[in-house]
Amino acid sequence: MEEKYSEYLSDESKLIGKAESISFPKSKDEVLEVIKYCKNNSLSITIQGGNSGIVGGSVPNNNHILNSLNLNKIYKIDDETLIVQCGVNLNDLNNYLERECKNFFFPVDPTEKTATIGGVIASGSKGPNSYYYGDPSLYIEEVTVIFSDLSVKVLSKEDELFSKIFSSEGMYGFILEAKIKLLKKPNHIWGITFFFENLQDVCGFAEEVKKYKCNTTAKIVCGEFMDKNTIDLIEEFKKNMSKIKAISSIPLGYNHLVYIELHSEIEEDLEEIIEFLMDVAIDNNSDVEIAWAVSEDRDLENIKNYRHASAECVNIVIDKMKSIIPDIRKIGLDISMEKNLCETMKRYSVKDIHTVMFGHIFSSHLHLNFLPENTEEFQKSLELVKNLSFYAKNQGGNIVTEHGVGKLKKEIFQLCARESEIEDIKKIKQDLDRENIFDPNNII
Ligand SMILES: Cc1cc2nc3c(=O)[nH]c(=O)nc-3n(C[C@H](O)[C@H](O)[C@H](O)COP(=O)(O)OP(=O)(O)OC[C@H]3O[C@@H](n4cnc5c(N)ncnc54)[C@H](O)[C@@H]3O)c2cc1C
Repeated sequence: MEEKYSEYLSDESKLIGKAESISFPKSKDEVLEVIKYCKNNSLSITIQGGNSGIVGGSVPNNNHILNSLNLNKIYKIDDETLIVQCGVNLNDLNNYLERECKNFFFPVDPTEKTATIGGVIASGSKGPNSYYYGDPSLYIEEVTVIFSDLSVKVLSKEDELFSKIFSSEGMYGFILEAKIKLLKKPNHIWGITFFFENLQDVCGFAEEVKKYKCNTTAKIVCGEFMDKNTIDLIEEFKKNMSKIKAISSIPLGYNHLVYIELHSEIEEDLEEIIEFLMDVAIDNNSDVEIAWAVSEDRDLENIKNYRHASAECVNIVIDKMKSIIPDIRKIGLDISMEKNLCETMKRYSVKDIHTVMFGHIFSSHLHLNFLPENTEEFQKSLELVKNLSFYAKNQGGNIVTEHGVGKLKKEIFQLCARESEIEDIKKIKQDLDRENIFDPNNII
């Protein structure tokens, strides 16, 4: 493992691992060769995609790294169906769609576009639009997996194992490629950003919007929340971020924002939803005159980049802190709860440590990120994460929703998961990877 590969020892959680060697296979046969070699030499394998994960899942333990970035081909079956190799990232996939399948889109939209298809499937990743479009597994018809016995299986939705590969975090086998199904692009996409002074109004607004049932072709596909601290943090870094520096600052007197995206086949159908959103916004003290409404592709992209900057800026701060206090790494919540949004937001309003809160508000799935400034605050943040996770567990929430467990959330996952859930994972691991070759330190 030469020095020049040191960037592969870490993911975006900033956890740093160790490895003896790394490979970048270009074909199924080369992957098989690597796995065979590692098996014969009792070497464990850490599988990597884009290393954009934030729970240390692709951070190596030791031994070998199998990186998928050279498995980057896309094969078109027809306008709506593609076979995508695991190392293709979302940026490249979207560029390909722009060129080759202009009228179609892939509704799976984690905001980090360097994430690979293999990484998205293995991490159980989702994006803002999953509020309407649902889980990635709905748009993936088959996954081809290489197991540690060197068998290569194409799993379709009928196979019991198909759903288990989602969120398997590299533990069950190497995802070689996926057959994905595209959707027809909506004719009209609009985005509206509402501003709020306090969290109570944000909650009132979100709870009301969640109840909306539309009878036309128009639908609300996502609701993304950013709190004041998140917006302030982005403002601090904005001038150096080319993709968002042109976006205006939020209107004076307002602290928080909610971005809503609407998709529709018929433009007039949007009117009913917009009228409804305006009424609910006014009821919750948002000034609709200053709401931002956009429908041009470039403006929609800008808003998405702004939302993405929330997570990016957290990572920049953590990286900076890590150069001063090496033990520090990313600490964030990935909890979702059907109910109790307002109570959750109150509990997430931590007073004595710098935090930022953003996320998918209509799914009650908010990411609270801690930005500790010293070791004491770092330890305190870990304790708070534990307490908030227990609270969520007792309320019937999910501790892990889209980022995975990896190595960093193992302890809390094991404390909060049902025993049967852990037993199930152990059994599948034992059945599929008896010698514990693949990603041996993830999840369990
Ligand atoms: C700024 C930022 C924003 C983000 N936004 C989102 C978001 O909106 N939604 C979201 O869900 N996540 C988000 N993430 C987290 C991350 O981007 C996702 O988890 C992503 O899917 C990881 O993909 P990757 O290719 O980088 O995987 P990696 O980080 O390389 O690996 C992640 C896990 O997948 C396994 N894996 C990777 N490839 C394979 C394969 N071919 N076969 C088997 N296992 C494999 C690895 O072993 C590891 O356990 C964000 C991260 C950042 C840094």
